[in-house]
Amino acid sequence: MVSMIIKVLKNLLSKPFTSKYPKEKAKVSVNFRGAIHVDQENCIACRLCEVNCPTGAIVVDTKKNYAVVDRSLCILCGMCAEVCPVNVIWFSNDYENAEKKKKDFRKQLPGPNPRPGKRS
Ligand code: SF4
Ligand code: SF4
Repeated sequence: MVSMIIKVLKNLLSKPFTSKYPKEKAKVSVNFRGAIHVDQENCIACRLCEVNCPTGAIVVDTKKNYAVVDRSLCILCGMCAEVCPVNVIWFSNDYENAEKKKKDFRKQLPGPNPRPGKRS
């Protein structure tokens, strides 16, 4: 009983473990995978990402030289970024990736990799 009272008092005086989301943004780790981006301009359409994707979420258009990700199928495993020879696939810290319509998951999140030379 005494130990329980001590525990309750300790918890009352300590800071909460939860954050005040959405007012307060979550702190994520350096290697956090939030949203997948492909720098389409520098894709060489080698298809390595496509053949290595376990869910079939990434499809390469070899005529237009770019890779398209269906974010509703992507499990953020990082395999495509691992195999991409030119390091154009990367993950941002953005974890607010919900979409209202399924088709919107096919909208691409482009932009050059901010960590060139490093696998995201
Ligand atoms: S992160 Fe994984 S699931 Fe998502 S597109 Fe890349 S290989 Fe496919
Ligand atoms: S592995 Fe990289 S370069 Fe090759 S098709 Fe995929 S995104 Fe483009």
